[in-house]
Amino acid sequence: MRTVEELGSVERSALACPALPTCGQALAESERRLPEMVGQIEDKLSAGGLNGRRLQLRMTGCPNGCARPGVAEVGIVGKTKSTYDLFLGGGLRGDRLATLYKEKVKFEEVPEILEPLLERWRDEGLEDEAFGDFFTRVLQP
Ligand code: SF4
Repeated sequence: MRTVEELGSVERSALACPALPTCGQALAESERRLPEMVGQIEDKLSAGGLNGRRLQLRMTGCPNGCARPGVAEVGIVGKTKSTYDLFLGGGLRGDRLATLYKEKVKFEEVPEILEPLLERWRDEGLEDEAFGDFFTRVLQP
């Protein structure tokens, strides 16, 4: 078993609801594909020189939001069998709602959508500014 220090910076706090195949409300995959999403986002962080920066990811298989994606820095919410709504900018302490950034994106598109936003976080973020705080301050539509 790995210690918390050995977990990736996204993996450490990532959370998903059970969704398919155990939840009858599920519209899309969640828990089963969370490790894949975590890996891809951590790869984007590493490629952008943000290795080790914390990023809070939460994912659910439907809008019921059992893993609380609506207050996550990055919230991925199943909308159809193959698409998700992407929420960004929640507060790390659960004190700020995330904003709906893009609707009905494919699972594979999420890391690509995040990439330029992460680069701007790297280049324009304040010292130790959390991604959710940066998104709310600079990027929120
Ligand atoms: S968010 Fe939806 S899919 Fe996930 S456990 Fe809750 S009801 Fe089921």
